[in-house]
Amino acid sequence: MTTLYKNLINGEMVTTDTTLEVLNPANEEVIGLVPSCGAAELDQAVAAARAAFKSWSKTPIEERQKVVQGISKAISDNMDELFRLLTSEQGKPHAQAQQEIGGAAAMSGAQATLTLEDEVNEDSDTRLSRTRRVPVGVVGGIVPWNFPVMMAVQKIAPALVSGCTIVLKPSPFTPLATLRLAELIKDVVPAGVVNIITGEDNLGPLITEHPDIDKITFTGSTATGKKIMEGASKDLKRITLELGGNDASIVLPDADVEKVAEQLFWSSFTNAGQVCIAAKRIYIHEDIYDDLSAAIAEYAKHVKVGDGAQQGTAVGPIQNKKQYERVLELIQDAKDNGYQFLVGGDEGDPSGTGYYVPITILDNPPEDARIVAEEQFGPVMPLMKFSTVDEAIERANASEYGLAGAVWTSDVDKGVEVAEQMETGTVWVNEFMHLSPFVPFGGHKQSGFGAEYGKEGLLEFTYPQVITVKREAAA
Ligand code: NAD
Repeated sequence: MTTLYKNLINGEMVTTDTTLEVLNPANEEVIGLVPSCGAAELDQAVAAARAAFKSWSKTPIEERQKVVQGISKAISDNMDELFRLLTSEQGKPHAQAQQEIGGAAAMSGAQATLTLEDEVNEDSDTRLSRTRRVPVGVVGGIVPWNFPVMMAVQKIAPALVSGCTIVLKPSPFTPLATLRLAELIKDVVPAGVVNIITGEDNLGPLITEHPDIDKITFTGSTATGKKIMEGASKDLKRITLELGGNDASIVLPDADVEKVAEQLFWSSFTNAGQVCIAAKRIYIHEDIYDDLSAAIAEYAKHVKVGDGAQQGTAVGPIQNKKQYERVLELIQDAKDNGYQFLVGGDEGDPSGTGYYVPITILDNPPEDARIVAEEQFGPVMPLMKFSTVDEAIERANASEYGLAGAVWTSDVDKGVEVAEQMETGTVWVNEFMHLSPFVPFGGHKQSGFGAEYGKEGLLEFTYPQVITVKREAAA
């Protein structure tokens, strides 16, 4: 019998009459059932979060930090079960699933150490003014399918440290590991402080527009982010939006070809390219283009695409059918336009089971090719040639997105000079995808609104409140 994974509402594991099926993208088999919540269940979860907010917001921060440490421990203690479940619903290879679960434990443990101090604005003979940070209230968290556990935990941890309570909705494609985690933390977190409910996409707008939710923290596509901003505007909810990206890497002529080829490959193909901060456009200087593109293509030959639960698999399937079909469409468009393929160009076998797309690397397609101009979110990497650094920067910046980017060079000073001209929230020099719980992460332009991680991320769950006391003027 297929396992039913329950929701967490007010400290209880509960379900609904109707359920949704969750598939394994490696073989399209049903691997779990989850509750299909609507307005009634959402109301219950929000009411529980609102009731819990009263005491949770007044609980000393040291105790809130301890609870978040408890969540971190629950994840570490159940690492094995959680990463296997994650692979089965998300598709990523075991090693990458282990990294996600380990990362979620480490990230929540680290976020539990963040603090909220008052700031003194004025301390004079006439006045004492200080800014304190008060929790915003009940938070609605909405999460995508590419890093479901990491994204859930990176919303729950700062919400709780700041004194907020939360109602979290996983993606309908990948709710299982998150619901198993809900069960594991049920007795770690006071009732109502964390509520996790599942439903289809239409549960999202109900959360965004719920009158008793004070803030939305969302990770997902830019298109959905815009709808959330619109929905949240009705009662001026606070919002944090982590959205899509079309991240560019610029490889300068002095980069060490042998050294960077493998790293560039993984900057694009980790999690089958389904990473918001994956390199989705790679600009290589013409002096090294032929050598570097050949080295990347050679490396790609040894990378195995397959079921993430099988040993040796390095790139898993696409997570869901809709995204699979979109990636195939982009590859077909490149073929129809006669663009050259260094690797792949085969659209896979849509009639077979599992959403597998072969590694695909394009050889210098034009800037207006769909595969360059759009966020592919799949195992597809366009390599493009440039002549001058100014030209590469201009092409990299010619995007509505501004999430992240990277510069590869042997000259770190030059790398930093180029990085500072890129219009993105994060730019790495000679590495990629490095995130830290202590460093703010957020997008420029249409890649986001606000930040997660670090002090800045924590403050997004608070309002500043200024307390000013008039003092008698000194005699
Ligand atoms: P999505 O926007 O389709 O869905 C994300 C979540 O929003 C899901 O839980 C979904 O059920 C919910 N949702 C759907 N419609 C909604 C609506 N109208 N109102 C409220 N919620 C709604 O995104 P996805 O396909 O799950 O994820 C892929 C996208 O996420 C990519 O664009 C990727 O770049 C982006 N992403 C961004 C970051 C980041 O940190 N910036 C991280 C991971 C993924």
